[in-house]
Amino acid sequence: MTTDSAAARDMLIDAAFDVDALREKYRQERERRLRPEGIEQFVELTGDFSRYVDDPYADSDFIRPAISKEVDVLVAGGGFGGLSAAAQLRKNGWRDLTIVEKGGDFGGTWYWNRYPGAQCDIETYCYLPLLEETGYAPSLKYAFAPEILEHAQRIGKMFDLYKDALFQTEITGMRWLEDEGRWLCATSRGDAIKARFVVQTNGILDRPKLPGIPGIASFNGHTFHTSRWDYHYTGGSNEGGLDKLADKRVAVIGTGATAIQCIPHLARHAKHLYVVQRTPSCVDERRNAPTDFAWMSSLSAGWQAARRRNFVALTSGVPQPEDLVGDGWTEIARTVGGYLSADLDETSDESRAQVGELADFQKMNKIRARVEAIVDDAQTAEALKPWYRQFCKRPTFNDDYLDSFNRPNVTLIDTKGRGLDAVTEAGLQFDGQEYAVDCIIFATGFEVGTSFVRRMGFETIGRDGKALSDAWSQGLRSLHGVMVHEFPNLFHMGINQNAPSYCVTYHLDEQAEHIVAILGHARAAGARYVEPTQASEQSWVATIRAKSGATLAFQRECTPSYLNNEGKADGPLNEIYGGGSIEFSELIRDWREQGMPGLELR
Ligand code: NDP
Repeated sequence: MTTDSAAARDMLIDAAFDVDALREKYRQERERRLRPEGIEQFVELTGDFSRYVDDPYADSDFIRPAISKEVDVLVAGGGFGGLSAAAQLRKNGWRDLTIVEKGGDFGGTWYWNRYPGAQCDIETYCYLPLLEETGYAPSLKYAFAPEILEHAQRIGKMFDLYKDALFQTEITGMRWLEDEGRWLCATSRGDAIKARFVVQTNGILDRPKLPGIPGIASFNGHTFHTSRWDYHYTGGSNEGGLDKLADKRVAVIGTGATAIQCIPHLARHAKHLYVVQRTPSCVDERRNAPTDFAWMSSLSAGWQAARRRNFVALTSGVPQPEDLVGDGWTEIARTVGGYLSADLDETSDESRAQVGELADFQKMNKIRARVEAIVDDAQTAEALKPWYRQFCKRPTFNDDYLDSFNRPNVTLIDTKGRGLDAVTEAGLQFDGQEYAVDCIIFATGFEVGTSFVRRMGFETIGRDGKALSDAWSQGLRSLHGVMVHEFPNLFHMGINQNAPSYCVTYHLDEQAEHIVAILGHARAAGARYVEPTQASEQSWVATIRAKSGATLAFQRECTPSYLNNEGKADGPLNEIYGGGSIEFSELIRDWREQGMPGLELR
């Protein structure tokens, strides 16, 4: 340990907390939350449960004739990934596109997640893509869902993408036609689209899931998932005003990032609200603020890329001379940087990790103290304290959540890591007690660790009849997470074998740029087929495995969540590039500059 970090360690220990006791407490809390079923504990939304994924926002009577056509590029998905890819394609002269999107409009996550209080927890000036190109100035530091959805639509209009979009349409299968050098894409509307290239961007948190609680199907009251909010039942909007709940007893299951945002509104309006908790979230202050438009208009060209890069660097442990965003996400980086300020670059990874852990304890102590300061009832406050490292679960930020538990109409059902015992015809059952309710809202998240093909909802058949599910049956394989050997002209956007960041749009924009550069390279070479060689793919898989150690070690100690495959720490999220987002961006940029070695062009 360097003198610098040894001093930091001493200072933090002197700051009066028992490191060993905290480690032990975190371990115990993790133990009581572990379930042997792992990701199998959830209910897949098929069969009788498929109504939970019906689109409540679009016209359910919509019909159109089936389409049969050929295009240069088909983009599967119209969220920020698809929009970013399509905008990049347009900017680079690709005119002949088709975008296939399940929802009734662009927006992806922000099309589906319209629940009351839905808000982006990443600073808008970083999160909203293409702010400089569109000339849009967001209204707030942290925008609410309607403004984000509107920005997705703005990008769609600016790049003339609406005329090329097939909404309320799902891909049902894709087959590579070797002789024609095209993908044949079938859809839920009977379309047959032949595309020279396909960009697959179907979202990361796209398929809602329900908890496998015994009796879940027997409940006689009303139920829905937060990503399909039923405003007909609750009244109100994203801004709240859920006036139809005034005579309703409501239960919300889950206390993750989504629940934290909608619970304050439910608490304000329900006759009674039961909050079912398994693991408490880490809830920091939000401190939202209106945009200073004078400041925004004073920024020089290239400001957004620089700001995003600064945020992504700090949140992935890369020291920066300043913290441009300066919020709860970057606080740990500030603390660690402060203690090690003399020679950060010289500090060994081990020393930095030790100080990082101490700074994390310090941060989480503050989070727990905040719970005590806000929640009046001591027992409830104790139950709401999170005992794990800050980035084991997605940190949350809200100024109203904790205070909701001071209302007389709100009851916390703390299941201490167990989950409910049962759902009955009339409501909930836990520890021998019944809770009669009129409505159950599932804030229980999305499938992450299940098979990629299951989450996409269709099979992809590549060269020589190879199915993607077979290709990945023994583990993922790809080049940069973007292309797969035996699947020519097909590009993936997402989190497989690359380097996701908390600012998801940064990562999607990087991928879009990468893909469009490869397409440009193929076009310039007059190639109709582009595919990574087996050797380049094997080399990338080896890089991923070699770099995954630190992430894996961190996740193994964490309380269960989708981030560590519900405690098993060997899921797809550990197939990420361990060097972090900034290193990954530099690596793929260098690869492009070197002429894209390892690609076969025909
Ligand atoms: P999560 O998966 O994060 O949370 C699901 C919740 O359901 C957890 O509290 C979980 O408890 C609980 N749960 C699951 N099964 C049971 C059960 N049997 N009994 C009781 N509780 C149960 O989903 P979210 O929708 O909250 O968030 C998903 C992700 O979406 C976030 O991590 C984030 O990436 C993104 N998001 C982003 C936002 C933004 O501002 N950008 C806002 C909201 C979400 P346990 O923790 O014990 O598993």
